[in-house]
Amino acid sequence: CGIVGYVGDGPVGSIVHSGLENLDYRGYDSAGIALVDHGSDGLAITKREGEVSGLDVPSVSSATCGIGHTRWSTHGPPTDTNAHPHTGMTGEVAVVHNGIIDNYAALKEELIADGHEFTSDTDTEVVPHLLEQRLEAGDDLQSALESVVDELEGSYAIAAVEAGSNRIVATRHESPLVVGHGDGTAFLASDVTAFLEHTRDVTYLQDGDVVVLEDGTVTITQDETPVDRSIETVDWNAD
Ligand code: GLU
Repeated sequence: CGIVGYVGDGPVGSIVHSGLENLDYRGYDSAGIALVDHGSDGLAITKREGEVSGLDVPSVSSATCGIGHTRWSTHGPPTDTNAHPHTGMTGEVAVVHNGIIDNYAALKEELIADGHEFTSDTDTEVVPHLLEQRLEAGDDLQSALESVVDELEGSYAIAAVEAGSNRIVATRHESPLVVGHGDGTAFLASDVTAFLEHTRDVTYLQDGDVVVLEDGTVTITQDETPVDRSIETVDWNAD
């Protein structure tokens, strides 16, 4: 349903949380946040069924990067476990997803045959498991996502973060995703209203774009080749 991401200084957890609150009007049943904690070198995740106002910001010693999600369940009932972000076996990667992975059942079966254990009933959970396989094979998160989307059928906007790094990697196919350009900071969302209070300079991603947000820089590729996408200024007000 709703995706938010932020890379930069400042209170990352509360910036992501208020981004989710800005998407509140869309309707959802669950919410969650994943922050890359540079203190523990792991991911700090909070997620639950219910409203964003009742969702705690994950406590971290130091974070400069995070993603958040509001879920409108399609596969699996609205529960704390089915709420996004989702992780795989190692907990090294966290993923939020809008849309539906049509071929998730076949992918899940293969992963289970490979020894992967699943904790949720969602279609989404195959994505972090597939990403972990690629990371274990030596890919970085961007190439991992590029390979994984080749296996996915359906409609999706996907954003992922990895422990120990300071970047968000995301892509879309038939589901909206937009980047916001700040001053040494970068935002990601399914809808500009998530971050309009921070920046009005935006780039609308196209199907197949893979975007990397890192240290306030935004890199967009299509078929592993860098592409130029225009920066537009949003001149309307959200309310
Ligand atoms: N299909 C996913 C799920 O049920 C994502 C739904 C959404 O777009 O929020 O968890």
